[in-house]
Order: sequence, then C-alpha cells, then structure tokens
Amino acid sequence: NRRWARVAAVLKELEEQCATPTEKLKEVADAMTREMHAGLESEDGSTLKMLISFVDKLPTGDERGLFYALDLGGTNFRVLRVQLGGKEGRVVKQESKEVSIPQELMIGSSDELFDFIASALAQFVASEGVDFHLPEGKQRELGFTFSFPVKQTSIASGTLIKWTKRFNIKSTVGEDVVSELTRAMKRQGLDMQVTALVNDTVGALAGGIYDDNDVVAAIILGTGTNAAYVERADAIKKWQGPLPNSGKMVINMEWGNFRSSHLPTTDYDQALDAESLNPGEQIYEKLISGMYLGEIVRRVLLRLAVEAALFGEEVPPQLKVPFVLRTPVMSAMHHDTSADLKVVGAKLQEFLGISSSSLKARKVVVQVCDIVAKRGARLAAAGMVGILKKLGHSNGKTKKRMAFAMDGGLYEHYTLFRESLLAALKEVLGEEASASVSVTMANDGSGIGASLLAASHSRYL
Ligand code: ADP
Ligand code: MG
Repeated sequence: NRRWARVAAVLKELEEQCATPTEKLKEVADAMTREMHAGLESEDGSTLKMLISFVDKLPTGDERGLFYALDLGGTNFRVLRVQLGGKEGRVVKQESKEVSIPQELMIGSSDELFDFIASALAQFVASEGVDFHLPEGKQRELGFTFSFPVKQTSIASGTLIKWTKRFNIKSTVGEDVVSELTRAMKRQGLDMQVTALVNDTVGALAGGIYDDNDVVAAIILGTGTNAAYVERADAIKKWQGPLPNSGKMVINMEWGNFRSSHLPTTDYDQALDAESLNPGEQIYEKLISGMYLGEIVRRVLLRLAVEAALFGEEVPPQLKVPFVLRTPVMSAMHHDTSADLKVVGAKLQEFLGISSSSLKARKVVVQVCDIVAKRGARLAAAGMVGILKKLGHSNGKTKKRMAFAMDGGLYEHYTLFRESLLAALKEVLGEEASASVSVTMANDGSGIGASLLAASHSRYL
C-alpha cells in the first residue's frame, strides 16, 4: 500500500501543477492579448510572430472556376480540387485525396520531400474528371496550404522560418517554399501555378468566412495548434507597406509559440521540451496540441510505473519509447465508460505491451488523461478569449456576434477535450458575453479555404 500512496502523491502533484482555475485562465488570456499587441508592434518583440499573411481580400462567395489546393502540415498531406460556382452554385463539386508522408522524408532533403508532393499532385490532376472545367488556354491554379511559420513576402511567396512538429529539414529553412514546390512541379512535368501561399489557419479562416460572415478568427487544434484572425490594417504598427483597400489584413499569429509565466507547466513538460526537436520553442503547442498530449501522459505513466510499480514489478519496456502513446489512443482510453475499463486494458496491451492491468491502475490512467486533456483544452480556450479581447469583445458590452472557425482532428474527434474547451470559454467570458460568441467546426475549411484564396488571387482576374 506504500505503492498506492505513492501513486496518489504523484497524481496529486500533477493535478496541482496542471490546475487552471478561472482566474489563471484570465491571466493567460490577458497575456495572450498583450503578446498580440507586442507582436504587431515590432518584428521581435513577442513570443507571437503575428505574421502578415498578405491576405487582404477574403472570400465573398462570388468565386468561380476550377481550383486546386494542397495541404502540407501534418501527418498526412491532402490534395483537393473544387469547382466553384459563385453565389448560386457555391462549391459545385469537390474531390480530395489524402497521402501519408513517410517519416524519413520529413527529416531528409528538401528536393525529395517536394518531389514526393509534386508527384502525388500530378497523379491527382491526371484523375480529373469531366465535372471539372478549365477554360481553354488557362493554367490550373493552386492554393498552397503550408502549416509552418513562413515569412510571407507576397500572397504567393514566402520563406520558411522554421519547421515544427515532426518535420526538420535544414536546407528548406530560409528558402521560398513556393519556389521549392514550383521547381518540383516542373520536374514532374506538371503545368500549374501557385497563386496563394497560406497557412492552414488562414485557409480555415477563409473557408469559415465563406460559410459565415461573422467568423473573426480560425483556430487549428490538430497535430499542432495555431490561430489566425482579421485585423485592422492600420493597427499593424510594424507594417511598412501601403494600406490595403479593404483596410483589413489577416494575421497568422503562430500562437503555438506563445509562452507566459502564467502557463501551468510540470517537470514532464520540461523534459518533453528539452528532448524535443525544437527545445524552448512552441511551448503553448506542447501543452495543448495532439502531437504532445499523449506523450505527456506517457511520461506521467512511466514515472508511476518506475516509482510506484503501477503496472507491476517490471516497468513495461515499451512505456519508455517516446511518442508510443498517441493522442487518439489516449482519447480512446479517456472515453472508456465500461465498468471494468476494458478499452483502457486493451489499449495498454496493444500499445504498451502491458498484458494485464488492475482496474485500479486503469482508473489512474484515465485520471491522468483527464488532467492532461483538461489543462490543454482550457488553455486553448484562454487563448481564444485573448483574441476576443484584442477584437474588443472583452467587456460583455458588445452585442456583435463573433464566431470562431475550428479545424483539426484533436478538436473534431476528442469529444472530452472539445467539451472542456467550450465549457472553459463560457466560464471565462461569463454567461452574457459568451452568448454572442460561437464556435463552429470548419469541416475541411483549410482545403476549401486555400482554393478560395487561390480563386480570389487568380492571375486571370
Ligand atoms: P494535421 O493537424 O496533422 O493537419 P488533423 O487536423 O487531421 O491533421 O489532426 C490530426 C491530429 O488530431 C492527430 O495528430 C491527433 O493528434 C489528433 N487526433 C486525431 N484523431 C483523434 C482522436 N480520435 N482523438 C484525439 N485526437 C485525435
Ligand atoms: Mg491540418
């Protein structure tokens, strides 16, 4: 029973260090608002890059024609084509294909990665059916969704600042990713032009606004996390160029890199960060996104196995392998409602090689999932409140409806995460202010969004 006392002590410490009471979330929200201001003011004054997207025209609904989109940024990359039919026709037809990128290409050479992508795109274009129409003499146009921090130099060019998530290819950093893709398309003999380079958040925002005019920001909660929103161009102090006619500019916050002393972190987080591909960076992302939640849980379980023999005398060897416990598996265990937690038992066996686990141990696993998921979801909600405050929705006086477009597998599939996020949003905003805030799933917003932006920035306009 010394074992169980030890288990309880570790859990109690975890719970305390991960606590996110309303007051703390308000501090995080305020810190987010401050960092937003600082990032708009100067180039290096904030943990938030607040990147200027060069998107100053958002979809109106009038977009027409055939457009392609390519989404690179997660585990899978997707290619998509849409036939847009203006206000009446809307999205007349769409087709997409998902391709998984072999791990070795994510850390190999730039040419190999872009060749792989261009070749998959070429195959997809070859399968274009008669429902899609490209007017004679026109070149196919593509919206390129690229979900990594890019220093945009125009709507269709930008240099890679750094890779994140599972990608790390030195030779691409500092290069124009549109040139990289264009050269690879040429090598594949693919006749197509990139007319918009957008972050997935910016694409999701465009797709969100196409569906709902009150959308002010898009949030990605998938493998990584990020946010984009519509800013007044004259509020961007660091912007040197001419003010756009629309008076607006979409800002890609790169909020995954947010950091604040108010963020609740633990030894597990510090070790995870230190051993990651990008130590010291993307601290907020490492607390809330799908790539990391399962890994945090693994680290806690490993400590419980070592210090309190949670899974028996021997520490399960597989539990020592970084990233073996993926967030979808964590989610499946967290949602297990069976009396004997048989899903937890089965997942522990399948993914960690733990052949038998006591009910008590399974309950501990669920509790760890709960603590880690809740902290992430609630911190994400706090960030959203920070954006609302920046937009003047802080005091509950505004009646203007503001909507968020959400995208990403974590938000979409992890129900308990989503519910915690929505509850925290209400809790921090208060009943009255939250009545004018809505959150909608932008189903594949980023794919459609990128093609809409390719359309609004077409060279044939
Ligand atoms: P990406 O962010 O890579 O573009 P998605 O938006 O599809 O891709 O998100 C995929 C991520 O969502 C996965 O890496 C995983 O972390 C998370 N995810 C997917 N399915 C689930 C699930 N059932 N439960 C929890 N998280 C999930
Ligand atoms: Mg994505």
